Amino acid sequence: MQKNIHLNYIKKIQTLLQSNSPFLIQNYINGELTASSNEEYLDNFNPSNGLIYSHCPNSNQTDVQLAVDAATSACPLWKNLPAENKFIILNRIAELIDIYNDELALAESSDQGKPIWLAKNEIKRAAQNFRFYATAAMQFSSEAHIMEESAINYTIRQPIGIVGCISPWNLPLYLFSWKIAPALAAGNCVIAKPSEITPLTAFLLSEICIEAGLPKGVLNILHGNGPVTGQAIIEHQQIKAISFTGGTSTGKHIAATAAPMFKKLSLELGGKNPNIIFADCDFEKMIKTTVNSSFLNQGEICLCGSRIYVEKRIYDKFKTRFIDEVNQLKVGNPAESETKIGAIVSKQHYEKVLNCIARAEAEGGNILSGGKPKNILGLENGWYIEPTVIEGLQNNCLTQQEEIFGPVVTITPFENEADAIEKANESIYGLAATIWTENLTKAHRVAGQINSGIIWINCWLLRDLRTPFGGMKNSGVGREGGWEAMRFFTEQKNVCIKL
Ligand code: NAD
Repeated sequence: MQKNIHLNYIKKIQTLLQSNSPFLIQNYINGELTASSNEEYLDNFNPSNGLIYSHCPNSNQTDVQLAVDAATSACPLWKNLPAENKFIILNRIAELIDIYNDELALAESSDQGKPIWLAKNEIKRAAQNFRFYATAAMQFSSEAHIMEESAINYTIRQPIGIVGCISPWNLPLYLFSWKIAPALAAGNCVIAKPSEITPLTAFLLSEICIEAGLPKGVLNILHGNGPVTGQAIIEHQQIKAISFTGGTSTGKHIAATAAPMFKKLSLELGGKNPNIIFADCDFEKMIKTTVNSSFLNQGEICLCGSRIYVEKRIYDKFKTRFIDEVNQLKVGNPAESETKIGAIVSKQHYEKVLNCIARAEAEGGNILSGGKPKNILGLENGWYIEPTVIEGLQNNCLTQQEEIFGPVVTITPFENEADAIEKANESIYGLAATIWTENLTKAHRVAGQINSGIIWINCWLLRDLRTPFGGMKNSGVGREGGWEAMRFFTEQKNVCIKL
């Protein structure tokens, strides 16, 4: 497929981002790019230099109503469109995302602060989300249960109708598409809101959807902040399900708002993930992956292993080698290919992370590496923090218990298997865990006892889109991925026939 001349913003993105005057991001309602009804705008910053590059609408209840009206009109058509047609459109969106990988990656990096090479990988994964669920639209089927007393049950799974998808700023297009793609594949119309901190790739996706021929009103993308736009979405009576990824406190608020309306809810929330390293691990492989699982995307991935537990026997060896590797990580301009750690997403988050480091010291933590802001020549107003490793903290202190969501990890020795499990489980969160050992019996035994929705053994972030994704405890409710997402985005109806 050729790049298309109608994709105005995507084609011009480099020029727009380099311009001295911020451009306007628009909502995507009823198939068209439009301003919000109140014409109120929020500033969007480029974290690498601290400058405002665009303004996005702060959409209100009126805009949400317009989007719901558009979705209501579009529902019968989309619901009844043959699966193959849904496949063709969703697959076309995937193709266009792939074609515009460079442009989207530049946009994502400029909006979020991540290195461009990393953004390119994530944009590829956003395309994979659409491709994966395009095929799911073709494959999803009903179940049948034959009863002994000459009866048959079958279960119809119907689209819910209009659903809301709300996503965070850390993996913007990847997480946005992770929700939208299954919602559409299951036959729903969608009202979606990206984070107001990183709206750009969601805006560019609007153009891609128009280009791909998605019928108008099927997907509506609204920009704005949580308490205004997000709140109007979760409160709307006609939006029957909410798929949310973000912080645990926001998730709690959404649950409290949506529960009395009996909305279906999927909540993917915060984490404070343990990385358990046994002495009998493959040391080199573990070190390489642990550097990544600690600091990829500036540590702003809900799956990062921020609590590192190391068996006492190899603690000193680990510490020396790990610090050595961490000190070699280049913090710098996201546009440079050698940069491993880019900018922190916002000034507010940058200050939060620095406060967490100061608190760790106050709690008795010993900073082994990093711990300070990093000044980047030519980008002095950007928000950069050195990768930070802290030791010497009690397991129950705030630094070990609260999510920091930045380039900060703690390292703590453990005595034996039981001690490692106890320390790992001493958390209100239960999203992901990593276990390093060459003893597979032990690996399975420990995996069975860790209270997390996802466990990686001798690897990290190895994702198969068919697997259930989500957390236990305060890390969330429900699972996404594979058929789980298709089930979430459908209503079941059982039909029983006496033969
Ligand atoms: P956040 O909760 O502040 O915001 C997430 C989204 O919710 C944004 O779009 C925001 O505008 C919206 N929002 C805020 N208030 C709202 C309200 N009252 N009603 C409706 N929507 C509202 O989270 P964040 O700071 O953007 O993201 C970081 C958090 O996300 C971290 O806690 C991280 O662990 C979590 N996260 C979890 C996963 C996962 O899969 N479990 C993945 C990525 C990020």
